Amino acid sequence: MKLEALAPAAPPIGSPFDFRVSNADKVDELDINAARESGDWGFIHSFTTGSALDGPGVRLVAWLTGCQFRCVFCHNPDTWKLANGTPVPLERAIEVVGQYRHSLRMMKGGLTISGGEPLLQYPFLARLFPAVHDMGVHTTLETNGYFGDRLTDDDLASIDLIMLGLKAIEPGLHKRLTGMDNKPVHEFAHRLAERKHPIWIRFVVVPGWTDNMDEAGRMAEFAASLGNVQRVDVLPFHQMGRFKWEKLGMEYQMRDSQPPSRETVEQIISRFRSAGLDTV
Ligand code: SF4
Repeated sequence: MKLEALAPAAPPIGSPFDFRVSNADKVDELDINAARESGDWGFIHSFTTGSALDGPGVRLVAWLTGCQFRCVFCHNPDTWKLANGTPVPLERAIEVVGQYRHSLRMMKGGLTISGGEPLLQYPFLARLFPAVHDMGVHTTLETNGYFGDRLTDDDLASIDLIMLGLKAIEPGLHKRLTGMDNKPVHEFAHRLAERKHPIWIRFVVVPGWTDNMDEAGRMAEFAASLGNVQRVDVLPFHQMGRFKWEKLGMEYQMRDSQPPSRETVEQIISRFRSAGLDTV
């Protein structure tokens, strides 16, 4: 089956908490790889309209599929596999943003590209961001930062804000929590700091993993040392993604975990504030 046969007449509007699998499973893998490498197509789990949580103002959010991390707390494991996304031609994605551009500007918002891990579809981003930026729409990339070195300085010039998901600072903890090293993430953070590129940091308080003041302290000191962090989002772990792990038949280590207490989250927020950071 060809990708063209799967391209939807309308964009896949929805929420990242919709469960989506196997949208492009029947497409030849060579075709998928060629589409990904050219950036002619993006694999998109869904577009959310009217989000007030994913960047400044009101956002249109494109949730891309594909992720190389395996976070034990992931809320959207159906985004890990690229072929679970709907193939959307680049021109169609630009057109969708164009339809919303006036209202996005009026509501001081813009486009956020999130995932999954969007930088796995770097060629698509490298063409979508400048096209959107040229329309005068604010652009945000939410990323785990691991493949930040794929972004050239020119690419960064078309991305107004990076929302960097820092999972853990202590290297062993990061590896156990995500399956990946955090050295490339820190290198990307330092590169952004040198360029004074605006960053928001997203930190998930994961019970039994990152809900302690040692790790929160390390995270706060790291974030404060960068000097370009405009805001830190402290996000309590929740169970809205549990059904996805179950439906995918995957073992979910966090199955019986409770969200962190309000008191714990407040203590962590205070720790960030005491390091001089703006935190919500
Ligand atoms: S980086 Fe995000 S999408 Fe990827 S596994 Fe972690 S939480 Fe899930």
